[in-house]
Amino acid sequence: MRILLLGGTSEARRLGELLADRSDLSTLLSYAGRTTIPADQPVAFRVGGFGGVAGLRAFLRGGRIDAAVDATHPFAERMSAHAVTACRAEGVPLARLARPAWVRGEGDRWRCVADFASAAAALGEAPRRVLLTIGQGGLEAFSARPQHFYLVRSIGAPESLTLPNAALLLDRPPYTLEAEAALMEGHRIEMLVTKNSGGAATVAKLHAARSLGIAVVMIERPILTAGVPEFDDPAALLAWIDRVQAERGV
Ligand code: NAP
Repeated sequence: MRILLLGGTSEARRLGELLADRSDLSTLLSYAGRTTIPADQPVAFRVGGFGGVAGLRAFLRGGRIDAAVDATHPFAERMSAHAVTACRAEGVPLARLARPAWVRGEGDRWRCVADFASAAAALGEAPRRVLLTIGQGGLEAFSARPQHFYLVRSIGAPESLTLPNAALLLDRPPYTLEAEAALMEGHRIEMLVTKNSGGAATVAKLHAARSLGIAVVMIERPILTAGVPEFDDPAALLAWIDRVQAERGV
């Protein structure tokens, strides 16, 4: 059975490692190509967009794909939406692999919002010192609130950083609680803005914010794949593939 695995996350990689052990399955891991791809991939891979829904449909047909797994990041909205539409149209079974969202704990001061614009509005009118950890996209929404100081942390440099009162910090996870607390204290951070990406590698900022009493503006996940079976555990996803295989008699 031929499987297309849409990746760009550590979950996709872990599933790829499980799939690599299965000689009855042929897996192709797909990357958008935004970052450098490590050479030691568990399965065969390809890089680059498909060319929208039409391109993905042609790819599914041309590659004789039997099942697809969307293991892209919880905020990779376009790719997930394209996967749902293209797989439905081509009759290719699709499942979603996504890490669990973070949940509010005792002592957390979270305000949950739906998007970047609401996050900017949630900072209020009075000037604040804000740690912005939303990646390279969405920064323009904060131009509407130029009174705040923004410490923008991301793995790669944004194409343009037009916020008038901002500093850029390039760094990559994992982060520790101690380092996150030191960063927030060092920059006298008063508010943290983050997407609810989930996962262990970047959760320390939430623990640091809790211990320092810093308010968090949490951008909740978009619902990307309604009606698609969803798993947060690669082994459970593998069991789904086995069920598809059994049903199709491949
Ligand atoms: P996006 O906005 O949903 O996707 C934009 C376009 O990039 C898609 O329409 C598709 O191009 C292409 N693309 C995205 N993922 C792809 C994949 N796995 N294989 C082939 N093409 C892909 O995605 P994004 O938010 O820019 O994220 C890009 C990649 O980075 C994703 O693979 C995601 O898993 C990873 N990532 C994203 C975030 C985040 O916060 N968004 C964080 C960490 C990692 P076509 O329309 O041409 O097919």
